[in-house]
Amino acid sequence: RPPFDVNAIRRDFPILSERVNGRPLVWFDNAATTQKPQAVIDRLAHFYAHENSNIHRAAHELAARATDAYEGARETVRRFIGAASVEEIIFVRGTTEAINLVAKTWGAKNIGAGDEIIVSHLEHHANIVPWQQLAADKGAVIKVIPVDDTGQVKLDEYRKLLGPRTKLVSVTQVSNALGTVVPVHEIVAMAHAAGAKALVDGAQSVSHMRVDVRAIDADFFVFSGHKIFAPTGIGVVYGKREVLEDMPPWQGGGNMISDVTFEKTTYHGPPTRFEAGTGNIADAVGLGAALEYVERIGIENIGLYEHGLLDYATHHMRPIKGVRLIGTAAHKASVLSFVLDGYSTEQVGRAFNEEGIAVRTGHHCAQPILRRFGLETSVRPSFAFYNTCEEIDRMVSVVRRLASRRG
Ligand code: PMP
Repeated sequence: RPPFDVNAIRRDFPILSERVNGRPLVWFDNAATTQKPQAVIDRLAHFYAHENSNIHRAAHELAARATDAYEGARETVRRFIGAASVEEIIFVRGTTEAINLVAKTWGAKNIGAGDEIIVSHLEHHANIVPWQQLAADKGAVIKVIPVDDTGQVKLDEYRKLLGPRTKLVSVTQVSNALGTVVPVHEIVAMAHAAGAKALVDGAQSVSHMRVDVRAIDADFFVFSGHKIFAPTGIGVVYGKREVLEDMPPWQGGGNMISDVTFEKTTYHGPPTRFEAGTGNIADAVGLGAALEYVERIGIENIGLYEHGLLDYATHHMRPIKGVRLIGTAAHKASVLSFVLDGYSTEQVGRAFNEEGIAVRTGHHCAQPILRRFGLETSVRPSFAFYNTCEEIDRMVSVVRRLASRRG
């Protein structure tokens, strides 16, 4: 029995009642972005109808309401990921901007010629390219933790990569292309033992499992709101207070200063120092509403239910002749990546779409890991807690039909 009433949950998400090509929509593209519950949609409308103002600077009532809403959302984020204080929560546009912020502030200050940055073979391009740019600027070196044939990182190989020049280890907690759950607690502990800092990319983990940044002990933890039922354009950098305090600002402008003269500017402390200009106030408030919604259902319940979906889908897809599942690690979340003999991934995606089923086909902005498995693209259904086994049955029947036509 599911730990919650999935039909009631589905009614919270208006878009799940859409029809596509005459069929009820099946949204299996949750790793790309998630759908929004009415509570989030209503919260945005309420903000613009009753609270809209710029924050912090004005004496008037609406500025106070908007500031309360924005700072309330920061507190909700803090609670949701278990940070020690709201000063450790910086609002940004998303995971990509989050990693760029760290690279261009902490990285610019702390990475020099010959220093080493370790990433894993599973990384999204957002956790590769900013480090490559930094390494090119500074003459630093990128090293890559290899994965085994199941798509899990090899910790013994990682251990060999760590050394006196290692300054940063930056890894994803869940692979967006394969669904592998990476042992980030161990990876962070090993980085610290080598004297390096650690960043964990939580873009694919926060919506599927309990995240406790103090237990992970990473110096930075980053994620995107839109992957956890919140609007696009809002995301988070969590940073340990002592690390953030030692970081130079990134963008300069309003909000982030404590005093400006033409001779000299002094900056606020974190998080304001890293939030130059008018931020995405409404969508931050929407993120708070999304996290409160998830808290009401319970992230453990969500993880348990989704695990059942992934097992069910894996169990029914694996025996189909011509299906090759990519990423078979023992510990996975949400994602089932595959290719089908005789069909391009685009053809499979189109056949799904004709039946109202939305999946991502392509390289998922993670080309190195697909190439590790000899592929340029895969088909990637990815599940959320509003999906059902009946929806998986519909997908499996399309794959069976395609597979049998080929044979
Ligand atoms: N990292 C991972 C693991 C991701 O899955 C994604 C989004 N696909 C990103 C980073 C980038 O997130 P965003 O596009 O929201 O900045």
